[in-house]
Amino acid sequence: MQLAQLGEFTLIDLIKQDTINNADSVVIGIGDDAAVLKATPLKLQLVTTDMLVEKVHFDLSTTSAWQLGYKAIGVNLSDIAAMGGVPRHAVISIALPPYLLVDFVMSLYDGMKALCREFGVNIVGGDTVSSPHGLIINVTVIGEVEPGNLQRRSGASVGELVVVTGTLGNSGCGLDLLIQDDWQGYDFAPFLVARHLVPKPQVVAGGMLATLGSKSMNDISDGLASEVNEIALASNVGMRIYEPKIPLSPELIDAAAMLGKTAVDYALYGGEDYQLVFTIAPEQFDALAEGDIGARLTVIGEVTDQSQGVVLVGEDGCASPLEAKGYNHFR
Ligand code: ADP
Ligand code: MG
Repeated sequence: MQLAQLGEFTLIDLIKQDTINNADSVVIGIGDDAAVLKATPLKLQLVTTDMLVEKVHFDLSTTSAWQLGYKAIGVNLSDIAAMGGVPRHAVISIALPPYLLVDFVMSLYDGMKALCREFGVNIVGGDTVSSPHGLIINVTVIGEVEPGNLQRRSGASVGELVVVTGTLGNSGCGLDLLIQDDWQGYDFAPFLVARHLVPKPQVVAGGMLATLGSKSMNDISDGLASEVNEIALASNVGMRIYEPKIPLSPELIDAAAMLGKTAVDYALYGGEDYQLVFTIAPEQFDALAEGDIGARLTVIGEVTDQSQGVVLVGEDGCASPLEAKGYNHFR
């Protein structure tokens, strides 16, 4: 059935099912003029929003509705994680072409609800409108953080280590494979494509690292080069990143060789990995156990004086400026 036959209000009734995963903090969810939430005393509130536009952020020929829903929530949870916080509530606005099938929208929400359920996030409201040209999804997530755990970009100091979670570059390479279209036959491809279509936000790691000594944090949405530059700029420091230390998956290394690309370039400039980069004092890093964080941790460099700039040290030991050249919408 197409949306045109169902109408807005029946659709919202369908969306409303299974939206509350943590009822304690919700007085009113979907169904009134505004959601009514209980804030936790003494915690700071975090609010983040991201808009996904068909043909700009996703293509329905390469993603399923479920995957798209999962990612729309995931990118916002990643932002909350990078502040050291815990995500609590989501508000979701969608602009839908009337020819879309009701099943498509249900599947979109199934993907959103799966990730919300995993992290105890409530879907407490939104807006539903029609769109004459393509699908638009806007997700806003509200989270909270203990004031002492807040992770600002401006929190880095000289002498701290620069550390990343997971492996980097998988998502950007996965996107290249998807665009190529004939990726199915390669062993390395499913892993990379999945990292692009359904990236798992580092919610547990972000919250734990914030309590265990991380001083500044960013999620890696625009490529490592861009993220470390943002921290350096906000903190008035420099950074030395060692190229051979950047963690790369075996799948990325194989795929890059096949594509004739440089694997580490995907890590530096690819984007959409939704891993975390953070800075921490060496002695506090030594006390971290990967098992407790639930993520692989790799030291990739150190925080230096601002006068040293942000540099990449190659295999040969030579340092060159590391410029932020991530994606920019209007260039
Ligand atoms: P209003 O006319 O007051 O804006 P709506 O009829 O737009 O209310 O929405 C009714 C209820 O459904 C509200 O609680 C709203 O937050 C919720 N809602 C509407 N669209 C969505 C959506 N796409 N996802 C989640 N909740 C939604
Ligand atoms: Mg409305």
